[in-house]
Amino acid sequence: MEDRFGHRISYLRVSITDRCNERCIYCMPQETQEWLPRAEVLSYEEIARLVRVATTLGVTKLRVTGGEPLARANVLELFRLLRDEAPAIRDLGVSTNGSLLAREVKWEGEAMTMATALRRLGVRSLNVSLDSLDPVAYRAITGRGFLPDVLAGLAAARAAGFPSIKLNCVLMRGRNEAQLPALVQFAGEHGHLIRFIELMPVSTTEVLSEENFLPVAEARRIIERGIGSLAARPDFRTNGPASYFQLPGSDQLVGFIGALTNLHFCESCNKLRLTCDGKLRPCLGSHLEFDIRDPLRAGAGDEELRSLYRMVVDRKPLQHDFRDSYQPNRKMVAIGG
Ligand code: SAM
Ligand code: SF4
Repeated sequence: MEDRFGHRISYLRVSITDRCNERCIYCMPQETQEWLPRAEVLSYEEIARLVRVATTLGVTKLRVTGGEPLARANVLELFRLLRDEAPAIRDLGVSTNGSLLAREVKWEGEAMTMATALRRLGVRSLNVSLDSLDPVAYRAITGRGFLPDVLAGLAAARAAGFPSIKLNCVLMRGRNEAQLPALVQFAGEHGHLIRFIELMPVSTTEVLSEENFLPVAEARRIIERGIGSLAARPDFRTNGPASYFQLPGSDQLVGFIGALTNLHFCESCNKLRLTCDGKLRPCLGSHLEFDIRDPLRAGAGDEELRSLYRMVVDRKPLQHDFRDSYQPNRKMVAIGG
C-alpha cells in the first residue's frame, strides 16, 4: 500500500485494549476510568484476521500496544494466533510499561516469565516505557509504585534474549528532566536503546500544557551537560521518526522523538493504526478514523476489508496537525501509542 505522497505503508500498530494497570499523568490520569464495554473491543480472532488481511497488502511489521497490552486476559493466545495466522509478519513488537514482563505464566504446560513466553511466540522487539529511575518520581508520573517490577521485567526481557529492547521516556518539565542523564547511563549499562519523546496532545489531561512541555533540543542540552556533547548520527534510523545521537567516547546512541518541534517528523511515516475498538487511523495526530469493526462483524470478505485499508491509506495526511490544533481529543490508550 502506498499513500498519496509515496509513503509505502508496511507497519501496523494495533491497540488491543484501552485498559491499563498504571495511570500515567500524560496518558490516563484519573483514578476512575471509563473503559470501553467488552463487546466494543476487538476479539483476538478479529485482530488476527485484520492483521492477516493487512499482510496481504504488504504489511510486514506489527506492533501490539494499548493501554497495557500485557494486562489483557490470555494475551499469549493473541500472539499464538498471530504466529499461526499472519506468518508474513517479519517484525513483531510489543510496547509495554514493562510491569508484567517478569510475571510467571504457564505456556504450553511450562512455567516461564511473560518475557520468555513472548519471545518464544516470535516477538522480536520490546519497547518499554521508563520515565524515571527514581521511585518517588516514577510513582508521581505513573500513579503506581511499579518501578521494581519494571526493572525486574527488563531483566527478564534481557534473559529472554530479545534482539531489540528499547526504552521510551516521555519528557516533562519539572517531573523528569533531572533524571535524563541517569536514564541514558542505565540504558548504556544494559545495552538498551533509549528514546526521549516530546509530550503530545493525545489525552484529556491538564498536564498537556505549554509549561510541562520539554522540547527535545532542551533535553539534549541537559544530557550534554551531564554526560558530554552528543554527535548527530543522521545515518542511523530505526523504523520510526526518532533522530539519533552518539555519546562521546562510546558507541551508545540516544534517540529523540520531537513530534512537535521536528518539522520533518512525518516525512518517513510508514504507519497505520488500528484502535482497540476497530477503527483504522491513518495518523496519530489527526482526528480522522474509519470503522472496520462493523463491516468485519457484518461478514465482510477479505477483498472488502482490503479496500477499506486502501481507502484509509489514501486518506493519510501529509503531516499530523498537532501543531495547528493543540487539542487533546481521543486518548492515547485507545489509539495505541
Ligand atoms: N502501556 C504501554 C506503554 O506505556 O508503553 C503501551 C501504550 S502507551 C500509550 C505507548 C507509548 O505512548 C508510551 O511510551 C507512552 O509513554 C507514550 N505516551 C502516552 N501518552 C503520551 C503523550 N501524551 N505524549 C507522548 N507520549 C505518550
Ligand atoms: Fe498505561 Fe502506557 Fe498509558 Fe502509562 S502510557 S497509562 S502505562 S497505557
